[in-house]
Amino acid sequence: MLTKPQILSYLQGDNDAELFELSAQVRQAEVGSESYLRGLIEISNRCAKDCLYCGIRCSNAAVERYTLGLDDVLCSAQYALESNYGSVVIQAGERTDDYFVTFIEQCVRKIKTFSNGKLGVTLSLGEQTAEVYQRWFAAGAHRYLLRVESSNPKLYSRIHPTGYSWSKRVDALKMLRNSGYQVGTGVMIGLPFQTLDDLANDLIFFKKIDIDMCGMGPYIEHEAAPLTQYKSLYTNEQRIQMTLRMIALLRILMPRINIASTTALHALDPKGREKGVAVGANVLMPNITPQINRPNYQLYAGKPMNDIDLSAFDVGYGEWGDSRHFGDRD
Ligand code: SAH
Repeated sequence: MLTKPQILSYLQGDNDAELFELSAQVRQAEVGSESYLRGLIEISNRCAKDCLYCGIRCSNAAVERYTLGLDDVLCSAQYALESNYGSVVIQAGERTDDYFVTFIEQCVRKIKTFSNGKLGVTLSLGEQTAEVYQRWFAAGAHRYLLRVESSNPKLYSRIHPTGYSWSKRVDALKMLRNSGYQVGTGVMIGLPFQTLDDLANDLIFFKKIDIDMCGMGPYIEHEAAPLTQYKSLYTNEQRIQMTLRMIALLRILMPRINIASTTALHALDPKGREKGVAVGANVLMPNITPQINRPNYQLYAGKPMNDIDLSAFDVGYGEWGDSRHFGDRD
């Protein structure tokens, strides 16, 4: 088991070669060489929140807002099914109104019925009530991603508007667990004010709350986001390298969880996703949002709108690719 001083030493880059070799071995032994696919449907960029780092925050009036119709959602899901992706993720800005909650429920139901239960459905729709999480679970969703963004409540409050509650977000993760989902969380890496100690604590936090899945990526500035006025402590290259170290360390700390190689890695490095997989990530999320809507889902500058070349990966086609860690729990 890695101690915190060891984690800190690896995060400093004291021995990347050893770390990456070890994490690749653990990956191979515990989850094999395959990566699983989740077709990402960015169902809406409407958002009630105003997160200081995010390009689609509600006060960014320059964003043209959209919500896909049920037909568009099913069309994207059909593409995922035909491409043998195995599962989809439905992601959006945060909304809690009845209309939206019911619409999502309907989308999940339809995706499950039209695919004869073949497509797994993951949701990434922010903080909701336990009742809403349960309704969506009952409709057929079985995995949920809710990044804690930082495990440090002080840093969390510096990157969010006044009044946003870190403990409410952590409570939401608990509600998701109690509702039966495989639970994923994650953080941004290279945030202004974020220290190596914060990053080490993020890993320890993931272990403590016993997550099933993780999505971490470099923080990337967006010109319309207020956090951009503060300088990150890291260059883009350092953020990529730090993200790779975080993925590798997490693979060693939690050998059987699912770890995504995220789009933000690709945004900073054309080979970023490949590098993430090489050091221990085992999930890829090809974007299957209708092309016409993609320019309006710019969470950060330079978010890629093209598709992943999957030939570079050993892909587990047609599988849900559930978290083995979750399966071990039964
Ligand atoms: N509304 C949903 C989905 C949010 S978008 C939710 O609250 O969970 C998904 C993720 O994009 C966020 O959790 C955040 O970690 C990431 N993100 C947003 N802005 C970013 C930025 N500027 N750089 C890197 N990642 C960002």
